[in-house]
Amino acid sequence: MTDDLSRFPILGPRERGSRVHHEVGLPGPALAGERWTVTSITGARPGPALLVSAGIHGAEYPAIQAAIETSASLDPATLRGTVVVVPVVSLPMFRERAMFTMPQDGKNPNRFYPGTPDGTYSEQLAWAFTTQFIDQADAYVDLHGGDMVEALEPFSICSGGETEAHRKSFEYAKAFGLPWLLVTTRPVQPSPGTTTNAAAVARGIPSFIAEAGGIGLLEAEPTALLVTGIRRLLGHLEMIGDAPPPPEVEPAVLSKFEWLYTPTAGMFYPTVAVSSEVQAGDVVGTIGSLTGQQLDEIRSPVTGRVLFLTTSPAMKENGLLMGIGVR
Ligand SMILES: [Zn+2]
Repeated sequence: MTDDLSRFPILGPRERGSRVHHEVGLPGPALAGERWTVTSITGARPGPALLVSAGIHGAEYPAIQAAIETSASLDPATLRGTVVVVPVVSLPMFRERAMFTMPQDGKNPNRFYPGTPDGTYSEQLAWAFTTQFIDQADAYVDLHGGDMVEALEPFSICSGGETEAHRKSFEYAKAFGLPWLLVTTRPVQPSPGTTTNAAAVARGIPSFIAEAGGIGLLEAEPTALLVTGIRRLLGHLEMIGDAPPPPEVEPAVLSKFEWLYTPTAGMFYPTVAVSSEVQAGDVVGTIGSLTGQQLDEIRSPVTGRVLFLTTSPAMKENGLLMGIGVR
């Protein structure tokens, strides 16, 4: 690939040793009139191009804040290569505080990558973001967390596979240093597209998702975990010289992400907390009716650790209850 200075042509010409805040329009008829805030930090010396995004889901605030802090704090004078930060990709979700799905089309944007140039809003945005940003990077980290009604244990997720991009994705996610690292070999939910990181790795760009924080709270601890992770990754890529040390305990690798759904609509009463260790067959919650009867008992089909838990009791049929990471 070309020198990092010539990447991301949509941002216009950049100079070495500069931090620039851009307001960028993206191609796609549904996206006309919108402007995305993007910060480029172009290092004084040539090197790799790292893309950092957040706000693919617009209510995951520690992720968004970690992107903002990274964009403001990296020093272009000592940086090798380029870092491009997009703190909020799904702007309509952020404005409307929309959980999971884009207001314009009701789609979960993280199930529609790499998108299409002529689809609905989410698909056009995914396509524009993929072609204008992801394809321009040597490495890509997408920051997430629990959504407005999800408590979450910090973890990273990357696609398992045999290519060089797969191998690097794992290596970079490990360097990021969150306590759990999920290596997935199949999508967690069937969908026409896939997640940002899976689409990126399929296009040869090493990529992973890092998740911390949840339930709509802007908290310092998960924000700092993500900021630290980005700096560790920058150190691993030899883009900065003053990276934080690796975590004392290496990330534990998980091989499967089991999502539990309720067969019945009603009130959800979990009997586990986020971060709980559960055994296969354990009761992890019950579903009650609006008249106080127990309708269902939910048991875990796997032994593992609760990585996220739906904190809202309001459940529709097939509502998502929790995600369990399995070693
Ligand atoms: Zn998310």
